[in-house]
Amino acid sequence: MCCGPMRLSDAIRSVFTEELMDAVNEFVRTSPLNAVPANSVLQTGLDGARLIDDCVFAFGDASDPLFEVQKQPQAVGPQFMAPMEWLPEALSVISFFAPFSETVKASNREIDGFPSGAWLHGRIDGQRVVFAACEFIVDWLKQRGFKAVVPSLDPRFKAVDDIRDEEGQIILEKSFRSNWSERHVAYVCGLGTFALSRGIITEKGISGRVGTIVTNAPLAFTKRPYEGLYDYCNRCGACAKHCPVNAISVEGGKQQIPCWVFLEQTKRTVAPPYFGCGKCQAGVPCESRIPARD
Ligand code: SF4
Ligand code: SF4
Repeated sequence: MCCGPMRLSDAIRSVFTEELMDAVNEFVRTSPLNAVPANSVLQTGLDGARLIDDCVFAFGDASDPLFEVQKQPQAVGPQFMAPMEWLPEALSVISFFAPFSETVKASNREIDGFPSGAWLHGRIDGQRVVFAACEFIVDWLKQRGFKAVVPSLDPRFKAVDDIRDEEGQIILEKSFRSNWSERHVAYVCGLGTFALSRGIITEKGISGRVGTIVTNAPLAFTKRPYEGLYDYCNRCGACAKHCPVNAISVEGGKQQIPCWVFLEQTKRTVAPPYFGCGKCQAGVPCESRIPARD
């Protein structure tokens, strides 16, 4: 398919979008990357275990004004690059959630303070699957005459240590922010809402990884099925109880520094590049679904 973007009817956009989703899931199901690698198994019995299940998708309008809102300090910040800054002719933003397999999730449900080997494979090797899926989407779109960019793999992507105002004064130290945010973009696209633990809760839960792509392909946009930033989080506090370093509280949300310190610690105790935790994302009501509200 290579007709000009504006000539595609809504029906063709929908079919094209469905074809894309099917192709990505077929890629994920059959990719040799979607398995614990034999040469770095962290835990007996995990060799070849599946990491990622079928993905769920949302498609945003690249000109949605909510992308500009992400430049506000209380959102991603002024360093955030909107879709058309990554790709001037952008029409759509693809956001997908790659849920961890049951093997990965079940392994990390125990509240024992230490991340399971399978979870660490999910976080690190599973992320490779997500990046490969992003690159697959770019190629798939290019073969059909469209352009696409993966901001988090683009040379312009950068993490920002400090956030400064226009005069260069530091507004926020150790910001944990960058010029693109998979989570905020997922929210704008309609994929899910924020969690107390700061992840994104989707229809397949919070346990998994998110990928995003900006393209000039005219895809069928998702109608955001929520209004508030935290609509899918029921504030049950289970994530706070699971956190080994008390980084989360129902009243105060998540504190990034203690979480970061703990993740750094796991870098030293597990074979690099493996590190992680995810105790706040496994065995909680939002692990694999949108949690019920009382
Ligand atoms: S465990 Fe409960 S409070 Fe924590 S993110 Fe999930 S739904 Fe929200
Ligand atoms: S907040 Fe950080 S340290 Fe706490 S459970 Fe979640 S990932 Fe682990």
